[in-house]
Amino acid sequence: MSTHEFIEIVGARENNLKNVSLNIPKGKITVFTGVSGSGKSSLVFDTIAAEAQRQLNETFTAFVQGFLPHYGQAEVDSIEHLSAPIIIDQKRVGGGSRSTVGTYTDIAALLRVLYSRAGQPFVGAGFYFSFNTPQGMCPECEGIGKTVQLDLDRLLDRTKSLSGGALLHPDFKVGGWVWKTYSMSGLFDNDKPLQDYSEKELHDLLYGQDFKVNLSEFNLSYKGVVVRFQDSYLKKDTAAMSERNRIIFERFTTSQTCPTCHGQRLNAATLNCRINGLNIAEASDLEAGKLIEFLGGLTDPAAVKIAAKLRERMEHLVDIGLGYLSLSRETSTLSGGESQRLKMIRHLGNSLTDMLYILDEPSVGLHARDVARLNGLLQKLRDKGNTVLVVEHDPDVIAIADHVVDMGPKAGTHGGEMVFEGSFEELKKADTLTGTHLGQHLPIKQKVRRPSGEMPIRNAKLHNLKNVSVNIPTGVLTVVTGVAGSGKSTLINDVFLEQHADAVVIDQSRIGANSRSAPATYTGIMDDIRKAFAKASGASPALFSFNSEGSCPNCNGLGVVYTDLAFMEGFTQPCEICEGKRFKPEVLEYHLRGKTISDVLDMTAEEALAFFSEKKIKAVLQAMNDVGLGYLKLGQPLSTVSGGEGQRLKLAGELHKQGSVYVMDEPTTGLHLSDIGLLMRLIDRLVDAGNTVILIEHHLDVIRQADWIIDLGPEGGNAGGEVLYEGPPSGLKGCERSLTGRFI
Ligand code: ADP
Ligand code: ADP
Ligand code: ZN
Ligand code: ZN
Repeated sequence: MSTHEFIEIVGARENNLKNVSLNIPKGKITVFTGVSGSGKSSLVFDTIAAEAQRQLNETFTAFVQGFLPHYGQAEVDSIEHLSAPIIIDQKRVGGGSRSTVGTYTDIAALLRVLYSRAGQPFVGAGFYFSFNTPQGMCPECEGIGKTVQLDLDRLLDRTKSLSGGALLHPDFKVGGWVWKTYSMSGLFDNDKPLQDYSEKELHDLLYGQDFKVNLSEFNLSYKGVVVRFQDSYLKKDTAAMSERNRIIFERFTTSQTCPTCHGQRLNAATLNCRINGLNIAEASDLEAGKLIEFLGGLTDPAAVKIAAKLRERMEHLVDIGLGYLSLSRETSTLSGGESQRLKMIRHLGNSLTDMLYILDEPSVGLHARDVARLNGLLQKLRDKGNTVLVVEHDPDVIAIADHVVDMGPKAGTHGGEMVFEGSFEELKKADTLTGTHLGQHLPIKQKVRRPSGEMPIRNAKLHNLKNVSVNIPTGVLTVVTGVAGSGKSTLINDVFLEQHADAVVIDQSRIGANSRSAPATYTGIMDDIRKAFAKASGASPALFSFNSEGSCPNCNGLGVVYTDLAFMEGFTQPCEICEGKRFKPEVLEYHLRGKTISDVLDMTAEEALAFFSEKKIKAVLQAMNDVGLGYLKLGQPLSTVSGGEGQRLKLAGELHKQGSVYVMDEPTTGLHLSDIGLLMRLIDRLVDAGNTVILIEHHLDVIRQADWIIDLGPEGGNAGGEVLYEGPPSGLKGCERSLTGRFI
């Protein structure tokens, strides 16, 4: 431990922070609370974590620094006595199909050592058991376990001609240069539907090569549609593809289990090597709990020691509520909450001390039953001599804090101050939104709505679902519950949404993380604002757009200028020509009731509501206020709004619709106890307007407010996947097998 007792922060002003100064005890757990938008992330991530990372990077040589991400100086007078940070967030663990729970946590490496020492017949050293090395991988699929084929039925519309758009791939669209290589080849009648092609014509179109095509611009070599697709996509690693290309790739291909290794990824010799009847692929396919049993049964002296070590690592997975995962599970299929917990496991395996661990709502995705185990792991991290900072809303996690920092009093410009610091006991008595909401619970709803109909699901067997048949009622609020891994997302996000593709999914994924979108453009009122300006000034509406005519030529309407540095992460600076206002000077000479367009974009929704009298604009601004986003500025880049804020902005755009089905996965993520009341009122409005709402939730107050509950379980993975209860919330308590019933 370093000799200093506190991290000392003086004058933090990042985003909405109002000159915040505080001391955070080292070697302790500090939990940061406060309503969504109060400034918790601005303090913990944008200030403390960013500064810790920057200070750490400065300890490396200039050469090494060139390869590290660049962190700008946070807006803060000083931060002292920081330790090296480890940030455990909810970003998905990427890495493509070669990254699995086993490889990511390094547990797979231990398992390989076990097999190289105790497997029969003997194969070789550990790397012979890895599907990521040439010695171990299946030669057919190169260790992916799947083979991918182009699906011609998806790529071609055979009823159409080349000119009519028979090639459905966006890179092959009519008029584009790739399309011209076909249409100008002289090989085809461009108006003949593909279904009427002769065999030769079809073969030339799909597989032809080595024809020369002279376009006036270029001399292009001809590649048949299939050949071109294979060269551009199939021969590339999906993990390295851009998001666009990956989506296209998945749209036009079908994958099937590799016929040679049957999905086990390894070559025959390796798969032939067994311990107590299981090869390494089969052991990796076991759920963590089952693998622990298997390891416990080993008696071979060559195996016991390493097996004990493996079991210890595996126990961590079970402790944190991930006992239903197998080592072979691809990390790309894990949810945000699962990813974050997996990151914790990776760090629990190391023996570092005096680190600064920073976690963002680790309780996400956890059932009330499992929060106690999460707390145990946080305490373990602390007891190893680390400082642990946690942003969290769950009272059961806040309760284990050695120190609580409460931000507020409200959100955005109405927040940004530290309104309380002290112990959990003191927080309960504090006169802040967090303090006053702490022991308050919503009662179980007694007068529930009656369903207007039902949407049946029959014999669902995907993942762990055990032939599930269930009716989802319409016209009411349904909450789907159950421990992590019980099958909630599989049932709703996979099975249900496949049948009801028109349902509106409101998740917390970033809305248009594009630097040009802002609440004004996202909600559609920007068009009306521009029209109002045009009407008042006589100029064209396009002039008032920073995306077209009106944009500042220096920054192209971004307000910032990006400087690219060859080897380092570049940086952005406010545009010095327009001073961040995004418009060219002449646009700002026009006024609407005394304000320029730039003044308007700098208004909060609340201020704008008072300023505008135009009906349509007012309705949207009112909805923004109703969802608690009155403090957002109309021009704030959407890339800077938090997940919870983005979710409510989506809701604001939906409030006037009716007759739709809405699906939300853990909508309380990022929300304060007082925000949850607001969210529930919004959801009630949606249902009262005739909509159907389906939530996946762990939050007990939300579960109590449901009209209908579908509880899955009893446990995660193979021990789950059954419907334990369906009906109104009042009946759940009586359901013996339901863990949710015990906590409600
Ligand atoms: P919390 O973590 O408590 O939900 P944040 O720290 O994310 O709150 O946000 C505090 C306020 O600062 C919010 O009003 C948010 O919209 C705003 N904000 C966050 N990041 C930026 C940014 N990069 N630029 C401008 N405003 C921001
Ligand atoms: P919940 O939403 O209740 O946490 P999930 O539906 O995510 O549960 O998971 C149910 C079971 O299905 C778990 O055993 C999980 O490991 C498995 N599962 C979920 N997604 C996938 C996937 N993409 N591939 C393989 N197994 C999966
Ligand atoms: Zn294979
Ligand atoms: Zn500019």
